[in-house]
Amino acid sequence: MNVESLYQEIILDHYKNPRGKHPLAEAEGESYQVNPTCGDEVTVQVARDRDGHLHVGYEGQGCSISQASASVMAEMVEGMDVSTADAVRHAFVELMHSKGAVEPDEEVLGDGVAFVGVAKYPARIKCALLPWMALQDAQVKAGIGTEDQGEAR
Ligand code: ZN
Repeated sequence: MNVESLYQEIILDHYKNPRGKHPLAEAEGESYQVNPTCGDEVTVQVARDRDGHLHVGYEGQGCSISQASASVMAEMVEGMDVSTADAVRHAFVELMHSKGAVEPDEEVLGDGVAFVGVAKYPARIKCALLPWMALQDAQVKAGIGTEDQGEAR
């Protein structure tokens, strides 16, 4: 199996078996984002526990790219400390703006590397970024600070 079809398999698996797709019991912040050009919707909820670890849940509907990205996002950042989660989000946003020219770092991005091909299609980039924008916005609303506000677009 070549890398491209492996990545497609990863995206399809997250779409079919979403991780972290549930509301949080005690959300501190929430963000609802829509991508009108594709019809994607996602609501991300965040909370931070006593140890400073981030907890994430989401609900959503839309295309396979947006929903798989939400699942990857939720699985990746769940339980991370906030600064590490911010670094992962930053790396994902950078990847999506790379036009596919950057070699993604699996150590940082985990299954997020599967979206490298999506970065070549401008119409799909918004789909992939939607849940990460919602994550950032929910964190800001919750006062779970992000150092790099405003860079997800
Ligand atoms: Zn979409």
